[in-house]
Amino acid sequence: MQDIINNLPKLAKDKHKENKTFFTKLKKKPPKQLDYLMQELHDDEFQHTDCLECANCCKTTGPLFTPKDIERIAKHFKMKQQQFIDTYLRVDEDNDYVLQSVPCTFLGADNYCSIYEVRPKACREFPHTDRKKFQQISNLTLKNVAICPAAYNIVEEMKRRLKM
Ligand code: SF4
Ligand code: SF4
Repeated sequence: MQDIINNLPKLAKDKHKENKTFFTKLKKKPPKQLDYLMQELHDDEFQHTDCLECANCCKTTGPLFTPKDIERIAKHFKMKQQQFIDTYLRVDEDNDYVLQSVPCTFLGADNYCSIYEVRPKACREFPHTDRKKFQQISNLTLKNVAICPAAYNIVEEMKRRLKM
């Protein structure tokens, strides 16, 4: 898995132009069955990709924290919300709360998330490949294929299955 992760930025860079063209066409004319197809591709991919062997999203990007995430996780730690923010978070250029540093401080050496049950919504949903109206997050997906081997494979399979 580590070899795949190491190669991913280059692979994604090589495919960037092709992916951009594909997503531009997808946005203009999304197929009717896109939501179903994405669910199928997502489920198939995650049947053989084990996030515990990867954790590259937790190691390299980290999520944004919504107010609900902060409330839930601070409660989990029995901390005041402001105390949780001061300890773990910073405000980024988009005015969102994000981790002060990556790899995520809640990631264990065994790739397990120590706050899995209460983890941020963005962590639960990453890499968003089973999301409805997937064509609306093309720009994010173009970035995610360089981070997430599963997202990369899903986009490659999408291109095989949808002749745009
Ligand atoms: S979601 Fe993607 S990047 Fe994150 S651990 Fe799973 S395969 Fe790796
Ligand atoms: S909170 Fe958990 S799932 Fe989210 S980035 Fe940190 S270790 Fe990964």
